[in-house]
Amino acid sequence: MKKHNFSAGPCILPAEVMQKASEAVIELDGIGLSLIEISHRSKEFVGIMEKARALALELLGLEGKGYQALFLQGGASMQFLMTAYNFLDKKAGYVNTGTWSQKAIKEARLFGDIVEVASSQKDNFNHIPKGFDIPSDLDYLHLTSNNTIYGTQYKKFPKTDVPLVCDMSSDIFSRQLDFSQFDLIYAGAQKNMGPAGTTLVVVKEDILGKVSRKIPSMLDYSVHVAKDSMFNTPPVFAVYVSMLTMQWLKDLGGIPAIEEINERKANLIYSEIELNPVFSGIAAKEDRSNMNATFNITDDELKDVFDEMCKEAGINGINGHRSVGGYRASMYNALPMESVGVLVDIMSELEKKG
Ligand code: PMP
Repeated sequence: MKKHNFSAGPCILPAEVMQKASEAVIELDGIGLSLIEISHRSKEFVGIMEKARALALELLGLEGKGYQALFLQGGASMQFLMTAYNFLDKKAGYVNTGTWSQKAIKEARLFGDIVEVASSQKDNFNHIPKGFDIPSDLDYLHLTSNNTIYGTQYKKFPKTDVPLVCDMSSDIFSRQLDFSQFDLIYAGAQKNMGPAGTTLVVVKEDILGKVSRKIPSMLDYSVHVAKDSMFNTPPVFAVYVSMLTMQWLKDLGGIPAIEEINERKANLIYSEIELNPVFSGIAAKEDRSNMNATFNITDDELKDVFDEMCKEAGINGINGHRSVGGYRASMYNALPMESVGVLVDIMSELEKKG
């Protein structure tokens, strides 16, 4: 039986994508060869890479607006240092909204001065800081749009004239935004896009080439742009599955369609958390994430019962991150509404038992 997969990432992908991906490992589109045994310079794979890059820009509404999409390696963690390597001359600003922001800050400190313009650390990152000042002399401001561990998400982004860099690893392609407010967006594939192994980078071309340091080729966005994201052998399987997932999303109606579904899923679980006295939400209401719902059980004695009920229903991956505790239900794009329904039914059944 297929489990209800609430895993925080790697996570559930659409069933039809899994099916096509597994078929392509045996034979790609009737060519008599596997996807993973052909040259990345073959016309088949070049076509896949081109399509993946075009779909990313199309879904984000950034076609023809001076942006390039790249599929790189090294995870989102590599982007923590690449962004600084490519854009940080003197001083950059970071909003500290949790573990992933802190990791980005740690890498960037190797390249210049870092101003932590705001932080929610003293509240264990249970909200998104608001109303902070942004110095005008920053090389860029770095944000993390969705904080996977704490279940917080920016609903509004700060307005500023300095370039905006955003880690969207855990909410890319999940909601409509004016993506052109960002100069660089990055996202590890393994939540809303595909398997681990590639990272989408969407960069505005006119911010490239301004930093004064020399950049090693593999870390230089300009090199990857000039080589159409094929400077070296790309992670062919991860790019292919990402392309299939983006095509699935496009066929579904794109980001507007998935946003509506994601809102319904989030409303269902958050209303249960609010109404059911056995559970309490962790993140501040106005900032809670539509991707990762974090919550506690108010009566510890019911924990074992709840865990057992979840296990019996085939619910996977709802334990909270060790730094937050409690539970975390990740509801990425491919998670069906039905899975959220099953979890919510168990939560309300537990209330009756309690
Ligand atoms: N940023 C965010 C928001 C994340 O959720 C994660 C991983 N869960 C990362 C960065 C790090 O990604 P990776 O493991 O691909 O380096």
